[in-house]
Amino acid sequence: MRRKAPPPESAADVWLGKVQRSLESARAVATDTPAPEVKFVLRALALAELLGSGGPRSIIVRLDEPECFTCGKSTVAYSEALLHCSFTCQEVGRYVRDLRKKVEFETPWDADLLSGLGSKMAHWVSTGRPYRRPVPRKTRDAVFARDGGRCVVCGKHATQIDHKLSDSADMSNLQAMCADCNREKFRARFVPSADGSKPEAVGDKLSYFAELVSAPSPLTPGFDHATWNVKRKEYARLRKRKMLNLNARLDEVKRRLGKG
Ligand SMILES: [Zn+2]
Ligand SMILES: [Zn+2]
Repeated sequence: MRRKAPPPESAADVWLGKVQRSLESARAVATDTPAPEVKFVLRALALAELLGSGGPRSIIVRLDEPECFTCGKSTVAYSEALLHCSFTCQEVGRYVRDLRKKVEFETPWDADLLSGLGSKMAHWVSTGRPYRRPVPRKTRDAVFARDGGRCVVCGKHATQIDHKLSDSADMSNLQAMCADCNREKFRARFVPSADGSKPEAVGDKLSYFAELVSAPSPLTPGFDHATWNVKRKEYARLRKRKMLNLNARLDEVKRRLGKG
């Protein structure tokens, strides 16, 4: 008797397979790198694997409406022409794209990759603080110059600017560091949850993140690593034009009301 050919794999099955292999690869590295931030990538991938078969919710983003490319909420309150409703959504979009790209290409994880993405996610999950705390170019240069281009901890060549205590970009709060020492400091001060009493808040954020990663195709154009960098400019132009039109119509109405 001839056997029937197996049914073709669906896009969801293919994606789930990639998530599973990515998780295995990450786990293999994590056994040698038991750093706390690494757990975030592992948990996100494990959750994505769990959700992969369930079919995640969809986020509808109308390209010409001012809706956030991460969560679908209106962006008008934040800024009309921007593509996200908050800095957090902008960052989450970036992490989702980053992880989806690694899953897509089945990038083999190494300790640096895991720890790098893990730190970013840990910042977002544990404190909600934006990972990027921009320091103006001039200030950066001045800090490196003041500290002689050397890490203030170990004296190696410094490549990063560390915030001593707060988020302030004041010279007195900044110091030059090498990447290794900066990572050590992050790990030493790492607290899994900002308020400690609410571990479920961390779980919720990670589940949300995992839902966005587990979708076989990106839920919004904002999660499409292949096209985002090219298309986001186009989206921004589209939005700006739309908002200009809206504002012009609003002005017209106001003028008429004023005359009437
Ligand atoms: Zn949003
Ligand atoms: Zn150092």
